[in-house]
Amino acid sequence: MSVQPRPGKVLCVGRNYRAHAQELGNQVPAEPLLFLKPSSAIISDGQPIVLPAVSGQVEYEGEIGVIIGVRLRNAGEEEAARAVRAIVAVNDVTARDLQKTDGQWTRAKGFDSFCPIGEPSSGVPALDGLTVVTRVNGEERQRGHSADMVFSIPTLLSYASRIMTLEPGDVVATGTPAGVGRLEVGDLVEVEVEGLSRITNTVVGPG
Ligand code: ZN
Repeated sequence: MSVQPRPGKVLCVGRNYRAHAQELGNQVPAEPLLFLKPSSAIISDGQPIVLPAVSGQVEYEGEIGVIIGVRLRNAGEEEAARAVRAIVAVNDVTARDLQKTDGQWTRAKGFDSFCPIGEPSSGVPALDGLTVVTRVNGEERQRGHSADMVFSIPTLLSYASRIMTLEPGDVVATGTPAGVGRLEVGDLVEVEVEGLSRITNTVVGPG
């Protein structure tokens, strides 16, 4: 496991980059769109992403993740920003077909191995200066900048902390930029928050 101990929750944000919302035909939400991934989905560097037999369209979503270092409840944005302990690369692997048919996202985003998380960064740089890059078989597919988020990292953490207490060790994945796409058996997919954290996984078939 790259994130020790296993976090109590992995909180995720949908449609937090305009260009990604548009590529899937969605509007940018008026408030952050939150969902959870089960911590049982977490895998570390080098472990395989397993395509489930019930999906025909599994996609990568490279994301900037943050690890919470201090408990946050009803926090303002400055307090929230100070509570970030580390940055991690996250791949919010998604069964896109099931996401559409189910109407909610628990199954589509919750399969075992659907949450690769890289090693935590040793420091925390400016939260509005982060870049996330996704490569498949060495070819760049996504490049996003935290400055282009619809809701900034401090805004997301403050908002979330008014709904659920964010505990030390919790991971918050802050949404994926444009360029999501399908993973096939044999692919090597890498998400990197430049200079800070990286996660690389191969894709294997079911069972
Ligand atoms: Zn995502």
